[in-house]
Amino acid sequence: MSPIRIDELPCRQTDVAVIGGGIVGLCLAGFLAQRGRAVTLIDAGGSSASTANAGSLHVQMQSRFMRLFPQRVAGFEQQLPLYPRAVEYWREFERDIGADFEMKVSGGLMVAETPEQFEFLVTKSRRERELGLSVELLERGDLERIAPYLGPAAYGAELCANEGKLNPLRCNAQVRAWAVRLGVTIVDRCKVERLCAISPGFTLATTLGSLQARQVAVAAGPGARALMDSVGAFLPVEPEPLHMNITEAAPPLILHLVQHAERSITLKQLSTGQVVIGGGWPAKLAPGSDYPVVDPASLIGNVSLAQYMVPSLAQLQIIRTWAGLNSKVDGRGVLGEMPGLPGLHAAIPGDAGYTLGPLTARLVADLMTGRDPGVDMQPYSPMRLQEEELRALAGQ
Ligand SMILES: Cc1cc2nc3c(=O)[nH]c(=O)nc-3n(C[C@H](O)[C@H](O)[C@H](O)COP(=O)(O)OP(=O)(O)OC[C@H]3O[C@@H](n4cnc5c(N)ncnc54)[C@H](O)[C@@H]3O)c2cc1C
Repeated sequence: MSPIRIDELPCRQTDVAVIGGGIVGLCLAGFLAQRGRAVTLIDAGGSSASTANAGSLHVQMQSRFMRLFPQRVAGFEQQLPLYPRAVEYWREFERDIGADFEMKVSGGLMVAETPEQFEFLVTKSRRERELGLSVELLERGDLERIAPYLGPAAYGAELCANEGKLNPLRCNAQVRAWAVRLGVTIVDRCKVERLCAISPGFTLATTLGSLQARQVAVAAGPGARALMDSVGAFLPVEPEPLHMNITEAAPPLILHLVQHAERSITLKQLSTGQVVIGGGWPAKLAPGSDYPVVDPASLIGNVSLAQYMVPSLAQLQIIRTWAGLNSKVDGRGVLGEMPGLPGLHAAIPGDAGYTLGPLTARLVADLMTGRDPGVDMQPYSPMRLQEEELRALAGQ
């Protein structure tokens, strides 16, 4: 089907333009349409983390993040209480829109292989409990009982009961259909090249013509930085190319979302029986492009580690492997109005952004429609980034 062109729209003006058709943009567009706004969603096509991700519903702090970005852990901790709510919100959202996301909340295990790694989990779990999470520590005997699929190297683990999984491709399709039913106009394969502030609102210059909007939400993942830059705003989103694999279908084997206390991995089995193996192994950017491509070293490293942790995976064939582009800021979401630019909102969910997608979209919809989000939004305000920029410029 050929894309809707902006110059073919009955009206070249809209109440709200949402830029980016990943999980955040789709949910946000739908919530705004539910509240009576005329919404146009514009998506460039190409790489989207929402179509590439692993479908893990994360709650406990990921050891990978703590290891790679120790300076961002304090910021991340501020968002931690949102994660269990985000998982609950997925369930509520699924019910409200009459969808089936193949969601299962059967708990997540972070596995330690040594007493030192277990000690790391003891400290981590203590901090997580202080921050309101419900987690417990399991010893080898407990693991043999509840996770017999784990190999002999498993020494102990941290269990977070409200972690889980869903099928992201199914979710994306169902959320998109819901948004369309609510009247959202979706313009596909159209890149917004720049924004220009007018009074009131903004003009969007796109590859398919221009559009005016009273409010704009930028849910464009790594594309957000250039868009904000075009209007003089600062949103330092960095792209992070990541690797993924999936196996052929197998009988039920792995109940939990499985991670490692020190090494990058997530493992889970979908309701189709396929095992999804990911967890942050790097991919590359294609030369001269912003498109992610597979690094063979990650393919080998990621599946070898998976097989080491769950030995019976050795029987299964990998049937597909791919790369996706994640968005990183400072460990926290960036949610809300840009300083000095009334009507322009950032909607960047934060680490494990698929888990956070629908909830963070609803929080931004609340801010954009003058409702109380019921959550202190200060930690996610884009204002902090401007303050950081000013401090960096002042050499502090
Ligand atoms: C390989 C991988 C595995 C992951 N696994 C998990 C996981 O298991 N669990 C989890 O919680 N999170 C996971 N994540 C993170 C999660 O997928 C993302 O945080 C989340 O999907 C971000 O959603 P989004 O809507 O903000 O952005 P995206 O899904 O990236 O969507 C942004 C959209 O904006 C569009 N766009 C960009 N610039 C423009 C422009 N100028 N004009 C128009 N459109 C534009 C893009 O085409 C894209 O469609 C993973 C990420 C990757 C890459």
